[in-house]
Formats: sequence, structure tokens, C-alpha cells
Amino acid sequence: METIIFLDVDGVLNAPASAARGDRPDDERLYGLDPAKCRLLGEVVRRARAGLVVSSCWRKFEDYAPWAPGRKWREVLAERAGIPAAAFAGDTPSLPATPFQRGSEIEAWLVSRAGVGPWAVLDDEVGDIVPVLGPGRVVKTDPGEGLTAGERDALLALLGA
Ligand SMILES: [Mg+2]
Repeated sequence: METIIFLDVDGVLNAPASAARGDRPDDERLYGLDPAKCRLLGEVVRRARAGLVVSSCWRKFEDYAPWAPGRKWREVLAERAGIPAAAFAGDTPSLPATPFQRGSEIEAWLVSRAGVGPWAVLDDEVGDIVPVLGPGRVVKTDPGEGLTAGERDALLALLGA
């Protein structure tokens, strides 16, 4: 059975707070992939042997950012997280507008797959997720902070790793 993390990006792998810490330009860390947060995610992926299913709107584009021409963001994330490209297990579908959009898209992905094992949702905005999926498998980050060590541990516990 496959262990799955439904991954949001903005407010999870980047955050305004991370910009101030920086070894990189603010723009990149605000809208990009904060290396420290990528590493935290990578620890979960490796220890839980989890696949990543991208639920973020980032799934709708491939390129990383204007300041990193030619890079694919998934490649950058895999590199910074220390995970293989094969850790990306897919994207949630894009459904027509629904009241609880992201939760419905995650639910549709789950329904489409047999044999999904433990799973968790990692997101900073859960108002359209919890009404569909309940709170039990959701790890919410603070959008001002992004992924923290505490949330890494919560994810590991949820995934039984
Ligand atoms: Mg977000």
C-alpha cells in the first residue's frame, strides 16, 4: 500500500517569515521553495516512504520561477529535499469550481486509486479541505511560517513512521 502526502506549496514550503532568515533573495523565498522547509518535507518522505501528490495550484505549471529559467520546480524540490523524482506520485485532478475545491479534488484522487495506505494532507489553508475530509488526516501549517519541525513530527505520526 502506498503512503501518500497531499502537498500544498505556498505557505508550506515558503512563507514570509522564511524570507527574513535568508541566504537567498526575498522574492525567491517568498514564492519559491525554502531549502530548510524542503529538507523537513524530505525527512518525512524518506522515513515514511511516502509519495507526494501535488494538490497545490503549482501542479498546473511546470517551471520553477522567472529567476530560475529552465528549471522544473519538482526537480528543485527533489534536489533540496533529498528525495528521488519518483517520489512524485501524481497531482490531484482539477475539478470545476466547487464550494470545497481542494478537499473535493483530494477526495477524487483517493477515490480513483485502490490500495492507498496511510495518507495525510499538508496545507496552510484547510477551510475547503476539512469539510470534505475531516480534520483527522490534515496537518495545517501557519501560512506566515510554513512547515516546521513540529508539523514534520505530526506528519510522521499520522503516517505511522
Ligand atoms: Mg497554500
